[in-house]
Order: sequence, then C-alpha cells, then structure tokens
Amino acid sequence: MNALRRISSVLILLIFATQLHAAEKLIALTFDDGPRPYVLFGTKDPQPAPGLLALLDRQQVKATFFVMGWRLTPKTWGEGRYETNVGITCIDAAKQLLKDGHEIENHTFGHEDLRIAEKKKGEAWVLADVDKGAKVIEALTGSRPKYLRPPDWDLTSEERHDLEARGYHIMTIASENPIAVRDINTLDYLCAGKHPTQCPKPSLAQAVLNQIDVRERHGVTTDILTFHELTTTTAQLDEVITALKGRGYKFVRLDEYMQRVK
Ligand SMILES: [Zn+2]
Repeated sequence: MNALRRISSVLILLIFATQLHAAEKLIALTFDDGPRPYVLFGTKDPQPAPGLLALLDRQQVKATFFVMGWRLTPKTWGEGRYETNVGITCIDAAKQLLKDGHEIENHTFGHEDLRIAEKKKGEAWVLADVDKGAKVIEALTGSRPKYLRPPDWDLTSEERHDLEARGYHIMTIASENPIAVRDINTLDYLCAGKHPTQCPKPSLAQAVLNQIDVRERHGVTTDILTFHELTTTTAQLDEVITALKGRGYKFVRLDEYMQRVK
C-alpha cells in the first residue's frame, strides 16, 4: 500500500513537472499592406465578402497590422484601380483597428523594396521613408511603432544596421534569427487574383497548418504568421484560427508575443 502511495505521488509530481515545462503555444497573426477598408469591413458587391475585422472579433483574436504609411494620409481610400471603395478612408479603418484592440506597426511609407531603393535613391531616402511611415502611425496611435517589416523582407545589411541603430526591431525570415521570432511566410499573396495557380495546395489554410505541423515536430510551438490584407486570405482564416485553437494555441498581438517568446 505504501509503495502504491509513493508511486502515485511520484506520478502526480511528474504530471506537475510536465505541465510546468509544457511549451507555450502562441500565435501572432500579422497582416501586411493595409489598411484596406474593403478587406477589413468586407464588401457587398461586386462579390459579397465578409470583413476581416468582424471575423477577428467573432473569434476574439487580436492581431497586428503592418501598414503602408501612404495609406494613412488624409482622403485616401486605397488603390482605386484594384480596391473596392466602401466609403471608409484608410485612416478611419486604422482607427477602427485600434478601437478593436489590434496593433499597428510599420511596413514603410512607400512600400518600396529597400535594397533596390537604396541603389536608386540612396540610403538617406530609405531611412527617411521608414521614419515617415513611423510618423504617420505615431500621429494616429500616439506612440512610435517598434516593429518594422521591410517589403519582401528585403534590405541590405547596412540598412539593417542603421535602422536597428534608430531603434527599429526588424522582422525577418532570415535563418540567423531564432526560429520562434522569425516570420512565417504563408504565401497567401499567391492565392489572390483571378488565376491563382501558385496558391499552396490543397488550400491556403491546410498549407499553413502543415507548416505549423512541421515546426511542432521540431519542437517549435510559437509562430508569427505573415498574411496580407486580402479577401482570399480572410476567406481561409476562420478555418486556420479554429483549427489552431483546437490544438491549444493562443492568439496574441506581436508586442505581447515578443515579450513572452524569447
Ligand atoms: Zn508588403
């Protein structure tokens, strides 16, 4: 009887220890290239599409939006040629993001490839473009954005060095950074457009879940997912969030994620 009791207390201790060391399962959902009012609020025509904000609200998920600074200038509704005007300016869309508890971070002002821009216009232009992006965000949020995701993650090591010296935390897919704080490229932009032949198979949602499976097999259970403000992405997102919640993942904004994942 005593032996049994001892075994059971050892077992209980073991269970406790495993729980204490159970890896935290965290996801930071991030969306680039907005604010795009027609994606955030949805459209009725030409095709009805649900809004991303309503979806996040229903799922009780807070996310992080890497915005293009030029959109946060007055009387800007988006890119007229490609984006349905739903009568809401990008600034008003950004205000709603903040009201809903989401985070806004910097994706530069002009959304130019920083490596190419340096060659064409010089590094001073690049630094000014990033600062300009930060400034329009600060005007809206009241605080300077900390995180910078360069378009296509592309920049020279000199630009990286100088931007870091100015206090920017640069998001990257580069392998020299620890895997848990590296962006995951979901390839969701390949699913946009009329003939998305390159869209990951069997579906964007499944492909994202497969990427997370692979990371889990390597013991990584914290992920920064990089999506774009696209209606095609919104259409797959419910499936991704529901599946990951079912596997025990919690969703947090990037600022919180970076504090918890080190
Ligand atoms: Zn972008």
